[in-house]
Amino acid sequence: MSDVIGRREFLQSVAIIAAASRVSGQTPPAGEWGAPVLDIHLHPRATVEGNVLHIDGAGVTKAVLLTGANAEDRAKQAVAAHPTRFVRFAAFDMTQPDAIERLRAAAKGGAIGFGEIKSQVAAAGPEMQRLYALAAELNLPVLMHFQEVNQPNSPGTFNTGLKQFDAMLRKFPKTTFIGHADAFWANVSADYAEDTSYPKGPIKPGGVTDKFLGEHPNLYADMSANSGNNFLNRDPEFAAAFLVRHQNKLMFGSDCPCPDGKGGTTGRCIARATLTMLKKLAPADVFRKIVWENGTRLLR
Ligand SMILES: [Zn+2]
Ligand SMILES: [Zn+2]
Repeated sequence: MSDVIGRREFLQSVAIIAAASRVSGQTPPAGEWGAPVLDIHLHPRATVEGNVLHIDGAGVTKAVLLTGANAEDRAKQAVAAHPTRFVRFAAFDMTQPDAIERLRAAAKGGAIGFGEIKSQVAAAGPEMQRLYALAAELNLPVLMHFQEVNQPNSPGTFNTGLKQFDAMLRKFPKTTFIGHADAFWANVSADYAEDTSYPKGPIKPGGVTDKFLGEHPNLYADMSANSGNNFLNRDPEFAAAFLVRHQNKLMFGSDCPCPDGKGGTTGRCIARATLTMLKKLAPADVFRKIVWENGTRLLR
């Protein structure tokens, strides 16, 4: 450093560069997975630091916290404390008469998407159609849980009728949909009979999820949970081609309940299991799109 540029000026210019990179959203460093990682599907922990523990432990750069509009405070606190590491969506039970008002208020309060939406209604029902219209109006994505089979840890069925969902994709072309959960991933296979949550064995080509992703620019996919992980593992050869085919539409998510991003107490971290499988199956540039670029582009 010359005497002409003194220490104070130098420090000022460093501060200016740092501020500029924050504003421009410069890509963060790669970390242990060889690319920065966005987890599109994390539910808030009991404490702010509990969220940080999971993403640090799993080698995740940033996460979307999905929370009900009745319990937004925990997510708000995490975003306020760590603005470069968390953003948040808001959800509401769409069978409630004030659902649209509540979601509109949540968006005004800083939620940058709706989800996860997990309501015991038909995906093409009037309650959901009101939400799709709101999402288009506010230009925010809708992350949906599609489930056709009752499960002990997720009793009931939710947003039913995925096989006919192309009608909604066509009716709401300005709405960005993000699909998730067991019916979404099981329906990559054309022979899904909606009789089990995690079908095993070879995939029969031509399933609606594969078809809709190919035909509708407004549909994206969240690869979180056992459902996304089961899809990657049941027929790895098919999955590898699928990742390349839909490389601009797929987003890594965890939906992981483990406390530390290492599988402590649950025995397995779904974030780590799915990142490991994605890294194995996808070429490096496709992996980077799925774990970082697609999600950050969608969320701007
Ligand atoms: Zn879900
Ligand atoms: Zn985990």
